[in-house]
Amino acid sequence: MRLVLLGAPGAGKGTQAKKLIDKYGIPQISTGDILRKAVADGTPLGKEAKSYMDKGELVPDSVVIGLVKERIAQDDCKKGYILDGFPRNTAQAETLDKVLNDLGMPLTAALSVDVPKDDLMKRLTGRRTCKGCQQMYNIYFSPSKKEGVCDKCSGELFQRDDDKEETIKRRLDVYEASTAPLIDYYNKKGILKSVQGVGSIDDIFKKVCAVLEA
Ligand code: AMP
Repeated sequence: MRLVLLGAPGAGKGTQAKKLIDKYGIPQISTGDILRKAVADGTPLGKEAKSYMDKGELVPDSVVIGLVKERIAQDDCKKGYILDGFPRNTAQAETLDKVLNDLGMPLTAALSVDVPKDDLMKRLTGRRTCKGCQQMYNIYFSPSKKEGVCDKCSGELFQRDDDKEETIKRRLDVYEASTAPLIDYYNKKGILKSVQGVGSIDDIFKKVCAVLEA
């Protein structure tokens, strides 16, 4: 299965992707995670990307497309993969289609996780991640037992730089302007599937599996 996950920041794409990894045994490719690692490692690419990310803007297409091409060529992607956070605009989607068509391995589906805008703000401003094991929490909906400390590994919980309120607003605007049109793009190609991303994580996952296996 070669799957694209679509949805606004905070729609829960990453959470669903992690459950899909377990079920289907294929890797998640999150361009956001790859870029954040490059930033943390202080690589030249990370330094370039950071200025865009901190503002909630998209990193230039050339950078991100290069990363994805390199990643999907790796052995663990032979059985398929879940693209999370890529493509983010029509230019990226068209390039992806071209690359995959040349390989004779087009996308299987694009799954849109739809969440009302009011909910997204709380999800994003409340989000905390463990420095140790990357476990995610939300101070409003799913807090850790002890504030600031991971239940699983006792690691320190932190807020992503781009989860600050101003940046979040910008990221949601960028989503509306650049990424939301991809829903129509994949619909026209006949591979769009949608689920409502509200309710418990497990209930959403059941809906995700149902539309993917339909
Ligand atoms: P995410 O974790 O997917 O919300 O991504 C965090 C940030 O990384 C975004 O706000 C962008 O600055 C950057 N980013 C991630 N994926 C892409 C992409 N496909 N194209 C451009 N920028 C991206």
